Amino acid sequence: MFTSKTRLRIAVQKKGRLSEKSQDIIRSCGIEFGNGSRVLKNEAYNFPIEFLYLRDDDIPGYVYDGIADIGIVGRNEAAEKQFDVDYIRDLGFSKCRLSIAVPNSFPYNSLEDLQGHEIATSYPNILRACLDERGIKAGIHEISGSVEIAPAIGLTDAICDLVSTGSTLISNGLKEVDVIFRSTAVMIAQKDLGKKDPEKQKILDRLLVRMDAVMKARDYKYIVFNLPTDHIDQVSKIVPGMKSPTVTPLYEKGWSSVQTVVKEDDFWDVFEALKKIGAQGMLVTAIEKMTI
Ligand code: ATP
Ligand code: MG
Repeated sequence: MFTSKTRLRIAVQKKGRLSEKSQDIIRSCGIEFGNGSRVLKNEAYNFPIEFLYLRDDDIPGYVYDGIADIGIVGRNEAAEKQFDVDYIRDLGFSKCRLSIAVPNSFPYNSLEDLQGHEIATSYPNILRACLDERGIKAGIHEISGSVEIAPAIGLTDAICDLVSTGSTLISNGLKEVDVIFRSTAVMIAQKDLGKKDPEKQKILDRLLVRMDAVMKARDYKYIVFNLPTDHIDQVSKIVPGMKSPTVTPLYEKGWSSVQTVVKEDDFWDVFEALKKIGAQGMLVTAIEKMTI
């Protein structure tokens, strides 16, 4: 039943690598709320959602149990916990990989070389699935932190740990030899949320419309430049995707000002192609929100 008190409950990491960016993405949707570093729970001021601030390990389980309706967590953590939840968006941030690393002196050619060895990890389920798939028998030592010191203290011969730059491995005399899982932050939801609570689903849909606009905008740049009017018809061939550029005549005869958007990844190719057809004075700005 609809009551104006219905709030969508979102679980985010209280403190750690995900916590700031998880809150940032919600704030960038125009949703205002207080700082979650000292509280367990708070409500947004201008949108019907409330936050639960948790350890990231607990987020998949709380979403599965329905204590939280949705959550933001690393794909690695969600996969490890194996709860049956819906993956609703890949948020793109907190990129990392779950990798096998061995001491520099270990003669490693392939995963099969781990046969009969001991591997320390905080991700036993993901690692076991990977080893089973290849028919490799190795011991898995589950430890909850500082996995990278396991070989140096004689606990195991290899590790399987999260890596982003690889500098922690190097400073511990280890080499990264195989990537077994790639991760980014994802938004997960309780299974069948819409059937269980249509009002919450409506709130989630509103949130997703905003989030998609913000995330799409991050992939694009807004560009403005001057171009000889004769060359305007070439612009849409160079800048595909958008319907058509906005063209305004300049005071100087024969010249126009053109406004359009470009995918960030294509920017330099587009820039060079536009220069070739005579574009001048280009201004490039970030876009805050974008809809189709
Ligand atoms: P918590 O106290 O909430 O349990 P934690 O120590 O388990 O925190 P963090 O180190 O804050 O977790 O990492 C959270 C997530 O950030 C990871 O699960 C992963 O998805 C992502 N991440 C990105 N880069 C790295 C990295 N280099 N090392 C570890 N995690 C990373
Ligand atoms: Mg954790």
